[in-house]
Order: sequence, then structure tokens, then C-alpha cells
Amino acid sequence: MVEKLIVIGSGPAGYTAAIYGVRDGLNPLLIRGSLPGGQLMLTSAVENYPGFPSILGPDLMGDFYKHAISLGCKIIDEDVAEVDLHSYPYKVTAEGKEYETYSIIIASGANAKWLGLENEKRLIGKGVSGCAVCDGVFFKNKDVLVVGGGDSAMEDASYLSRVAKSVTLIHRRDTFRASKIMQDRVMSNPKIKIIWNSVVVDVLGKDRVSGVKIKNLVTKKEETIPVQGFFLAIGHSPNTALFKGQLDLDGQGYIKTHEFTKTSKDGVFAAGDVQDKVYKQAVIAAGWGSMAALDARKFLADKKLI
Ligand code: NAP
Repeated sequence: MVEKLIVIGSGPAGYTAAIYGVRDGLNPLLIRGSLPGGQLMLTSAVENYPGFPSILGPDLMGDFYKHAISLGCKIIDEDVAEVDLHSYPYKVTAEGKEYETYSIIIASGANAKWLGLENEKRLIGKGVSGCAVCDGVFFKNKDVLVVGGGDSAMEDASYLSRVAKSVTLIHRRDTFRASKIMQDRVMSNPKIKIIWNSVVVDVLGKDRVSGVKIKNLVTKKEETIPVQGFFLAIGHSPNTALFKGQLDLDGQGYIKTHEFTKTSKDGVFAAGDVQDKVYKQAVIAAGWGSMAALDARKFLADKKLI
């Protein structure tokens, strides 16, 4: 049997594509991955998804899941091991099983970035974390440092200030790129100290993080900040390793799209953070998901496959 549509990924884009696909009679197979739900599973309160003045990220994704299930969407909770776009129908391997499909929507999202320091890698899970919401609880009454100047860094610093004894927020420039409301929240929080124009040059500690060495980019002075927690909030990279050499990607690895959700292969569409490095909002990802499903339906209809 050849599937009409396979959706890869289960953030807002993947679920929305699947929901539209089911309702359009495409009987899609949604491959959610082994950690379903996408980045919102690592967020606390979401306050900008219309219709939900404040909802926890995992609860919102739980609602997306229930919606997809209520429509009878077929779901697999395994990571996709391989995608073969060289012959048609395309092939997607997951759960050790190969599926053939006439169309694919890629909604595999993006993951947190790391600085790339040797000791940062060595101490991941031992005080170094890429997810304040997941790991913050382990730093109750401890001193922590957050690096970044975007909304994620503001959100993480604010979140950690409710748990930790103190939060130091370090940014490489003298202005944040975060939205004003989130900056204001951080700047008026007495538990958060901001260090401008500085970068982290080393993470210290033998078995656990005991401090972070930072360098001021203006004065070139280095100093050590004693902290037990070091949180990265410096952006994301797209999950596109499976598509390298098969689809056109941009310099940062994001899938290139044209005419909205079309990729460089006919019948393969991309939606959400895997192709959007600008907005990266749940509501926008959901919108992309619906667009990709409508585009997939048109493709299948034009090819007389539905
Ligand atoms: P981002 O907006 O790309 O910000 C990344 C930050 O990290 C920037 O301030 C950047 O500095 C800094 N940075 C990047 N690489 C660095 C490095 N190697 N060393 C030191 N600093 C580095 O990423 P984000 O904060 O994850 O946000 C991504 C998107 O998600 C945004 O559109 C944001 O609005 C959205 N978001 C929204 C919410 C919300 O509304 N609740 C929450 C989180 C994220 P520069 O500024 O100097 O480039």
C-alpha cells in the first residue's frame, strides 16, 4: 500500500498538517518522533497562542494530539530513520518499517544550539542545560547563568528567577533582540543581574558546573562567575540531517521553500521551524502546517492520486 501523505514531526506544524490532511480525506500517517510534541514540550506558559490567554506548552500540544486522534489520524511514535526521495513513490523508514508515499510534509522543527565549548559538552546534564523549563527545578536556591539576548533567554531567565537563588543573564551585545514586554519583565526583576557585551569562554567544574569564565568584548577583561547552573538560550538549528543531499537547504540547514511550502522535490512540502528561521512562533508554524496540507492535497489532486 502506498500512503497518500506522510507527515514528519509533531509540533504545531505537524499536527495541523495532519488534522487538515485527515479532514481532506488524505488519510495521513503522522510520524511524531520518539519525543512527540516539539519545542513547546520544553516551554512553560504560552501566552500568545490566540484563544488561549495562558496555557502550558505541553498542555497545548496535548490538545493538538487529542484533536488529531479524535479525527482518527494514524500515528507512529518513532523517529524517522531514513527518507529516500530519489525514486517515486518516496520511501520513509520508521520503526524498522519502510513506508511508500505519494507526498510528504516535513515538519521536523529545530533544536536548541550550544556554544561549542569542550567543557560545555562534558558537563551537559551536570549543570549545563539547553532547557530551563526541563531542568530549572534542579537549581532551587542555587546560582545560575543564562546566555542569550532573545525571547528564549528572557523567558528562561524569568522562569529560573522563580526557582534559583540568583540569575545572571549574559549577552554579547549592549541591547537585547527580545520583544519589549519580555525585556521589561527581565529588567525589572530584582533577582536577575544583566552582564552586557560579554561572552562565555569556558565552563568550569570537575564533575559538576562550579562556575563560568566570561570575557567582556569591549574591555577584553575576563572574570569567573561562580554558578552551579549554566543555561543556553542562543537559538536553534533545524532538524534536516535526513534531507541533506536530497532537498535544497540554505546555509544554515533550513529547508528552502518556494511558492509557500514547496521544496525542491515535487510532492515534498515543508512547514514550521524547519523552514522558518525568522518568526518561529507556534501559531505561525500551525499556519504553515495547514498551508502544506492544502498544497499536498492540490498536488495529489493534480496528479490524480486522490
Ligand atoms: P533568537 O531570537 O535567535 O536569539 C538568540 C540570541 O542568542 C540572540 O540574542 C543572539 O545574540 C544570541 N546568540 C546567538 N548565538 C550566540 C553565541 N554563539 N554566543 C552568544 N550569544 C549568542 O533565538 P530565541 O531567543 O530562541 O528565539 C527564537 C524565536 O522564538 C524568536 O522569534 C522569538 O521571538 C521566539 N520565541 C518566542 C517566545 C515567546 O513569545 N514566548 C519564547 C521564546 C522564543 P545577538 O542578538 O547578538 O544575535
